[in-house]
Amino acid sequence: MVYLAGIFGIKNNTISLVVDLVILFLVVIWLSLVYWTYADARRRIADPMLIGCATAASLFPFVGTIVYMIVRPPEYLDDVRERELEMQAAEARLAEVGYHLCPHCDYEVEKDFLRCPNCMRKLKDPCKTCGRPLDPSWKICPFCEAEIGAVPSAPRRPRRRREGSEQPVAGTAADPGGLPPT
Ligand SMILES: [Zn+2]
Ligand SMILES: [Zn+2]
Repeated sequence: MVYLAGIFGIKNNTISLVVDLVILFLVVIWLSLVYWTYADARRRIADPMLIGCATAASLFPFVGTIVYMIVRPPEYLDDVRERELEMQAAEARLAEVGYHLCPHCDYEVEKDFLRCPNCMRKLKDPCKTCGRPLDPSWKICPFCEAEIGAVPSAPRRPRRRREGSEQPVAGTAADPGGLPPT
């Protein structure tokens, strides 16, 4: 019996040593997975709150990291930023060759459109004096030098009174036969 017990004792010691090593190994892997999840989340997620959530989820041994790998954003933030920059550059190149898109619906519009023909939203305001389309960032009209937002200057040639319409209509006053009122 003693002999047998001795064998079992040695075996038990060996087994417990192996078990300890396996547990240590798993703990090391678990800790490195937590760190990996934190580092990976930082490269993919901008919100620090969500990074914290991902790291907290990875504290559940192995399952948390697997779940994180399933639901994580597919792209790195750097890649997203680079692609956005590239798209901006491409849009600028297209704008240079006269290709413009409506900022609201991405419908193709021309540079001097006042309204998008697709979504009907306002793209530009006409100059109050000469009626040409003005960019919202301009301070003066580059075509007739009128100040934007200022009332058209007083000394103008007397306007011919149109038949039937007595009241002056803003916008159409300056360009007879220009844009039809919408
Ligand atoms: Zn549009
Ligand atoms: Zn003008």
